[in-house]
Amino acid sequence: MMRHYHIELEALAPIALGGPRGASRGPETADYISGGTLRGAVAGAVMREGLSPEAKEFRNLFLRGQVLYPNLYPTSIKGGARSFPAPASYRTCKRFGFDHGWMDALGGMGAEGPPPSCVHDFDGVSCDNPLVGTEGFFHETDGGIADTKVSSQLFTRTAIDRARRAVHTGSLFTIAAIPRGQRFSGDLSCHPDIAGLIEETLQPRTTFYVGGSRTRGFGEVEVTQMRPADEPTPIRQRAQQLRDTLDDDLFTVDLLSPVVLRDRFWRPVHGIAPERLREWAGADAISLEGAWKSMTEVRGWNAAWGLPKTPDMAIERGSVFAFRIPSPDGVDWNALERIENGRIGERRSEGFGAIRFCHEWHTLSAEGSHG
Ligand SMILES: [Zn+2]
Repeated sequence: MMRHYHIELEALAPIALGGPRGASRGPETADYISGGTLRGAVAGAVMREGLSPEAKEFRNLFLRGQVLYPNLYPTSIKGGARSFPAPASYRTCKRFGFDHGWMDALGGMGAEGPPPSCVHDFDGVSCDNPLVGTEGFFHETDGGIADTKVSSQLFTRTAIDRARRAVHTGSLFTIAAIPRGQRFSGDLSCHPDIAGLIEETLQPRTTFYVGGSRTRGFGEVEVTQMRPADEPTPIRQRAQQLRDTLDDDLFTVDLLSPVVLRDRFWRPVHGIAPERLREWAGADAISLEGAWKSMTEVRGWNAAWGLPKTPDMAIERGSVFAFRIPSPDGVDWNALERIENGRIGERRSEGFGAIRFCHEWHTLSAEGSHG
């Protein structure tokens, strides 16, 4: 049984997380801390503390796949609010976003279908802006959910001539970074044998550096929370809630981080096929009903070789796969719990492969939503 921890960091300095995927013009920063970045940052910190990469503890923490580092997504609330990538099945007002509620296209798979445009009411006049897919992140609030605002700012610094310790006249550079104060959270999983070690390594108030431009004062983060994660609702119960909410026998696989899956010929797989869910669930009568998904190219760094890894194709975070399971009695719920706990696919210790079956985001209160 894996142990799960909720971890939260706060940026003590602006952090520059490198460009987003794909080509970009000008300086940009990613808006979350990937599991691979977190793992590298923590490894750097413990090495500076004197732990040798040859040590058994170091191998257990970073090299043997015993710790599944999470992608840390931005959150606006202090103290344990969970932050999620926006599910690809959500639709929000093109102009006003979550402020005008949201609708889940999963619930629109029935006869009525989703409304064509935003029905938010301005004193009797309908907003009527188109509903569009959403990107970015949201977090749970007392009454429902809110989108997480994460701003990237441009920081201009003067270049220092290191040899002369003097400012290079006219030599300025600009870095895109997330300002200090931003919080990030995620759930880390580890083998129980090294729970004590990971608790000690990431105890609250620990600081380390993530991202680039560290010598220029960027990248310092502090662990503000590290505690056992809340016990999740059993999958069987979530599945029942989903069926009750939708009044339909749908079952979803929801991706919390990009997933790198391959077939037996080592080719990238572009979705979650019903065969795969049948195998996981040990049940035959499962069909794919619909999917909201996209693919993304992911990169990485091979520390051993000091070279970039070959890019992998991944199914993008937030993707939603909707299956139909007419007779849930035959489902092996324990097997599904094990799959969810251990993540799926490749590169799981770098944050990839985090999934949740029948995620609560499909059953959130329709209060303030278009659903
Ligand atoms: Zn609207």
